Amino acid sequence: MQRLAHRLERLGTETAFRVAQAAAAWSAKGNRVYPFHLGDINIPTAPHIVEAMNAAIADGRTGYCPGPGIPLLREALADDLGSRRGIDLSPDNVVVMTGGKPVIGKFLQAVMDPGQEVLYPNPGYPIYESQIDYLGGRAVPYRYLPTDDGFAIDLDQVRASITPNTVAIVYNDLQNPISAESTAAEREAIAQLAIEHDLWVLSDEAYFEARYEGVSQSIASLPGMAARTVILYTFSKKFAMTGSRLGCAVAPVELAHAFGTLNTNDESCTTHYVQWAGVEALRGTQEPVRQMLDVLRERRDAACDAVNAIPGMHVAVPHSTFYLFPDVTDTMARMGLTDVAEFATAALQHTGVSFCTREHFGRRQPGEERQYIRLAYSGIDLPDITEGLGRLREWIEAA
Ligand code: PMP
Repeated sequence: MQRLAHRLERLGTETAFRVAQAAAAWSAKGNRVYPFHLGDINIPTAPHIVEAMNAAIADGRTGYCPGPGIPLLREALADDLGSRRGIDLSPDNVVVMTGGKPVIGKFLQAVMDPGQEVLYPNPGYPIYESQIDYLGGRAVPYRYLPTDDGFAIDLDQVRASITPNTVAIVYNDLQNPISAESTAAEREAIAQLAIEHDLWVLSDEAYFEARYEGVSQSIASLPGMAARTVILYTFSKKFAMTGSRLGCAVAPVELAHAFGTLNTNDESCTTHYVQWAGVEALRGTQEPVRQMLDVLRERRDAACDAVNAIPGMHVAVPHSTFYLFPDVTDTMARMGLTDVAEFATAALQHTGVSFCTREHFGRRQPGEERQYIRLAYSGIDLPDITEGLGRLREWIEAA
């Protein structure tokens, strides 16, 4: 009898797609839906980037190209990422990939043997946990603690979780789903632990430039860190190119070679003409990037105001990402609910507001008592943000 491989039982996914399905089903019945579940951007890729992609196709850049990426894009990435982070990069440090996501699995394939431990943020982007499990590692979660102005990594837990069997830590400053931002001291503490215990660091910088105030800092720029850090970079968010699938890993040269070989095995190369669009994105006008940040900042402010007007909910205003992660425990208690999935379903059915919950971002850890939801404001226009969250407030007030 044919059967599927056992390892598939360990493969997780982005369960957020079930929220999208529920929202689509609710909408198909003729109901109004406010899509706060989407991590996508409802703003098209800028015309000059689209033109560069079309021109590359017309110029015949439709065949295979080098596994680690076309030289011009690797050079543009080394210049741009190096200068924005204050680190010296050569094109040999840069390996182009089909988005930021593949960096996670390829990083783990390259540095983790089965049975070894990797620390990862939880709640966090769900693919870390999925890929560590799938590749036979031990996924060791670390949590965030609420502070007056957001969340902070539980450094004591990180410290206590490192064993001689730990090989890497995943670090996502400017965090999905909780929008946490490290202080310099927190970033230095993570770097210090990595150096002390000789760990690799996967620095997920997907939101490095999705920032409304302040300046992003990369852990790779701290002393001693470039040699042990892999940066996950993506064009998806910064240039509204989620569907084009373009990103890269920045790594020490030996590891970059391994990534190039993994690329050759997995997809041969990243779509050739999309890479030419990437060169234009980095080297062309940055005005559309600024305009998009202005739009997203307005949405963030409106979403924060609306959430803070809801009984029992409070969020600090995050400086980056597209996400709000309010604690809804008190709101739910007011409504006689203890199951956050039930709260999400009831909210959809009573108000059309669709969102993910904490449960979509990794296995719940022992001792977690508070309930959270994630509201994404990148895929929904300003008037709908105000209207949708207004409906949510009215429904909760009436309960
Ligand atoms: N890391 C984080 C934290 C993300 O939120 C995302 C996308 N939502 C990715 C990585 C993957 O990005 P991409 O779509 O470029 O693969």
